Amino acid sequence: MALRQARDAWTGAGDPVARLYRRASTTLSLEQLLGIFAEELASALPYGQLVYRHRLGHQDFVYSTGTGGSHRCDYQLTLEGINYGALALKRRTRFHEEELEIIEYLLGILICPLRNACQYALVEQAALTDALTEIPNKRALDMALVRDCSIDDRHGDNFTLILCDLDHFKDVNDNYGHVIGDHILKATAKALREATREGDSIFRFGGEEFAIVLPHTDSDDGLEVADRIRAGVSQIRVPFGDHQVSVTASAGVASHRRGETPDQWLARADDALYRAKNGGRNCTRVAHVVKGSKTQPV
Ligand code: GH3
Ligand code: MG
Ligand code: MG
Repeated sequence: MALRQARDAWTGAGDPVARLYRRASTTLSLEQLLGIFAEELASALPYGQLVYRHRLGHQDFVYSTGTGGSHRCDYQLTLEGINYGALALKRRTRFHEEELEIIEYLLGILICPLRNACQYALVEQAALTDALTEIPNKRALDMALVRDCSIDDRHGDNFTLILCDLDHFKDVNDNYGHVIGDHILKATAKALREATREGDSIFRFGGEEFAIVLPHTDSDDGLEVADRIRAGVSQIRVPFGDHQVSVTASAGVASHRRGETPDQWLARADDALYRAKNGGRNCTRVAHVVKGSKTQPV
C-alpha cells in the first residue's frame, strides 16, 4: 500500500516541484529539459517569455519560448563555480518577491540536470567535430546526408555535394613535415568557410579530403562554388624557411537525385573527384546527370 502511494506520488500529477524533479531526470537533451522547465514554471506562475543562452563549446545555444514584456528577471546559472548559461524571464507585469522565490526554488531543481545536459551536449559536439580543423567530421557528414536525402525525397529540394581533395598532399608532408601539413589542413577548413555561405555545411571527410553540402543549389551553381573553393585553397600560404608552401585541390560535384541513398550520392561525387584527379588535378568535374533515360555528362 505504502509502495503504491509512493509510486502514485512519483508518477501522479503532483505539484510543479515534484513534477519538475521527476521530469527533469528523464532527459539529457538540453532542449527537452528547458521545455519541461518552461512548462512546470508556467504551471507555478504566469510569465510571457523564457530565454536561455549558453556558449557550448564552439556553438551558441539559444532556447526561447513565448513572447516577452517590459518586466524581466535574469539569472546566471552556476554550480560549484561553473557557469551553465543565462536564463531570462519576461512579462508585462512586475515579478513579486514571492514569485522570485518560486523561480529560484525551481531553478535550484533545474541546475543539476542542466549541468548534465550541458556536459552531454559537449560530448555529443566533440564526437561530431574533427579535432584538428574544428569542423564537423565524417560522422556528422553521414548524418547530414541521411537528413538531406530524405528532405529532397519528400520535398524535392536541391542539394549539391562537393568532395574536395588536396593534390599531392603526401609530398607536402614528405617535403615539409606533418606540422606544416597540419597548418595547411587548418587553413583549408578556414578557406572553405570563407568560400561558402551561412547555410552551407562543411566537413572533414578524411585525411586531406573535405565535403561541402550546399542546400537549394543545382550542379551548375555547385561547380561555381567548387571552383571558388579551389581558388581559395590555392591562395593559402604557409611559411617554411625562406619560402611559402602552397597547395592545389581537385573537386567532384554531384547533385542529389531523388530516391538516391547517401552512399550512392557520395559514390557519384567520389567518381567525379576521381575524374578530376585523372584529368590532371587542380580542376573540378561534375557527376553524370540522368535526365529521363538518358545519361548526360555535364
Ligand atoms: P592525390 O593528389 O592523388 O590526392 O595525392 P595525395 O598525396 O594527396 O593523396 P594520398 O592519398 O596518396 O596521400 C594523402 C596524404 O594525406 C597522406 C597522409 O599522410 C596525409 N594526411 C592525412 N591526414 C593527415 C593529417 O591529419 N595531417 C597531415 N599532416 N597529413 C595528413
Ligand atoms: Mg589528396
Ligand atoms: Mg585523398
